[in-house]
Amino acid sequence: MPVEAVLLAQGNELTTGLTTDTNSSWLAGRLWGLGIDVRRIITAPDRVDDLVEIVAQAADLAPIVVATGGLGPTRDDLTAEAVGRAFGRRCRLQPEALQWIEARFAAMGRPMADSNRKQACLPDGCTPLENRWGTAPGFAIDAPSGARLYFLPGVPSEMKPMFEAHVEPDLRRRADLDPPHLHTIRVLGVPESTLEELVRAVERPGLEIGFRAHAPEVQVKLRFAPGVPEAERRATVEAARQRIGWRAFGVDCGDLAEVTGHLLGERGQTLSLAESCTAGRLAAWVASVPGASAWLLEGAVVYSNAAKVRTCGVLPETLDRYGAVSEPVARQLARGIRERAGATWGIGITGIAGPGGGTPDKPVGTVHIALAGPGGVEDHRRFRFPGDRQRVQTFAAGSGLAMLYKRLVTDQK
Ligand code: AMP
Ligand code: MG
Repeated sequence: MPVEAVLLAQGNELTTGLTTDTNSSWLAGRLWGLGIDVRRIITAPDRVDDLVEIVAQAADLAPIVVATGGLGPTRDDLTAEAVGRAFGRRCRLQPEALQWIEARFAAMGRPMADSNRKQACLPDGCTPLENRWGTAPGFAIDAPSGARLYFLPGVPSEMKPMFEAHVEPDLRRRADLDPPHLHTIRVLGVPESTLEELVRAVERPGLEIGFRAHAPEVQVKLRFAPGVPEAERRATVEAARQRIGWRAFGVDCGDLAEVTGHLLGERGQTLSLAESCTAGRLAAWVASVPGASAWLLEGAVVYSNAAKVRTCGVLPETLDRYGAVSEPVARQLARGIRERAGATWGIGITGIAGPGGGTPDKPVGTVHIALAGPGGVEDHRRFRFPGDRQRVQTFAAGSGLAMLYKRLVTDQK
């Protein structure tokens, strides 16, 4: 039986819809990876009486509780008080925690407000957890039920490193964890439903298969029970990957920009981009990979017709005859930017991201993408992406890169 946990997300900002509870989903993923199943995720406003009840209930439900939020300096941050009341402990100023806060303010050269002292008031018997990423210390405490509860700040950039620095090592020490093995196949351009059909054939006992859409890619998660030997896991993952085909661009790897970038780097090849409807999105994505300067030469945002002509040498008569969103223009963009940059590859993207600008024969979401390479324009595709402006742009950038990736890893044109 896997160890179980309860997550508690606290704050009025969560229950009024101002903030999305990303902490719990992140924590759930991390616990899952450690072999800990989440039994409940509870979200509650900053109401101390409710919190007293919820904290006590959580400690009865599972041996591990991870709570976020409510450790701030303001009057609505009431977690320590609620925990004290739930377990009959007094809250007292903890000198060690106060020192951390004072040191942090001293380092920032800012005076410390009295309200920050409150953040060092923690229930008797707890272990304060240092916050090197912000001011609010966290704490761990053992409930009368035997459960161990961890309280972390709500700010994600503090919560995550604190989980890694304090909670994860403590969990590994205390709980008899038997982590499953997780492998992620990363795929671009295959819908979830098709993926499910493709990988169904590798189903077996001890394997849980999940899908996660993370635009523009979809990830296939294969979670193997702790006892499955490595050779068997590898063979199963490989079989699933084979079934998906070249669109599965890697296993337990970085995103498509990283994978494609490294392929270019290995071959000493370079890339240039002429983007209309994606307006530099693909360039920004490619450049997010460390070391991208080795393969990304140039990216042009060619929004207007004049820019397409001036920067990529698109012929005005082609624009007049076929319109800016057309196969011939995409081809000229790809070829033009490739020549201008002196790159191995050129990608041209032109389309209608919406919400306006669609016509019956070129509806919103129509995108033409061309890939130019040593053999001239080597590929062109017309897409019809569903969704809002942002999704059309995301998928257009993803598909443009996928066309290059495909050309690099297959012989198909
Ligand atoms: P707190 O520790 O309660 O003072 O939280 C500080 C800030 O962290 C809040 O104003 C939110 O912006 C953010 N925050 C709190 N809880 C969450 C959560 N569950 N998910 C994402 N952000 C959160
Ligand atoms: Mg709060």
